[in-house]
Amino acid sequence: LSTRRASEVAGLVRAVPDFPEAGVTFQDITPLLADGEALHDVVRSLARSVSGPQVDLVVGMEARGFLLGAPLAIELGVGFVPLRKEGKLPPPVEAVTYDLEYGSARLEVRSATVPAGARVLVIDDVLATGGTAAAAVDLVERCGAEVVDVQFLLEIDALAGREALAGRAVTSLWGVP
Ligand code: AMP
Repeated sequence: LSTRRASEVAGLVRAVPDFPEAGVTFQDITPLLADGEALHDVVRSLARSVSGPQVDLVVGMEARGFLLGAPLAIELGVGFVPLRKEGKLPPPVEAVTYDLEYGSARLEVRSATVPAGARVLVIDDVLATGGTAAAAVDLVERCGAEVVDVQFLLEIDALAGREALAGRAVTSLWGVP
């Protein structure tokens, strides 16, 4: 994306104060998704920012990682694998439990859909603390695959989520303070 186009597209994401709870500014990407040109632009831009060799598979986190991950996989000409919240996928699954600010969460994958040795691109909409993305990376690696890229539409700079992904190739199209 050109700097000008990036800021136009970024302007389609609505920052909603105190949602879903006080103190959180929710980044609502639904206006961007509803804009055909913007959606196409961000998907192409994510595809172009893949670093290193060709990826074999796109893996996206429930639920907004699906919305970007599937079109990104099509753009790259590879398959898509969903990482789901607990209890949604039929067994057998590989699972990882990770800490949230309050309590914990669990991500699951059908390990049979992630071939050992595959070069995987992990995608989600927003990088906040990085806890979810780090868990996703862990899960993909437990399947014996290699995470070559971790991508986001946007990152919340103040939360320094990149620190949770130290040593990884991390791409976001823009940052918000
Ligand atoms: P984290 O694990 O803290 O990096 O949180 C990332 C996950 O929570 C992603 O799946 C995001 O979609 C979602 N998320 C966290 N914070 C926000 C926010 N401020 N606005 C929108 N989504 C968020």
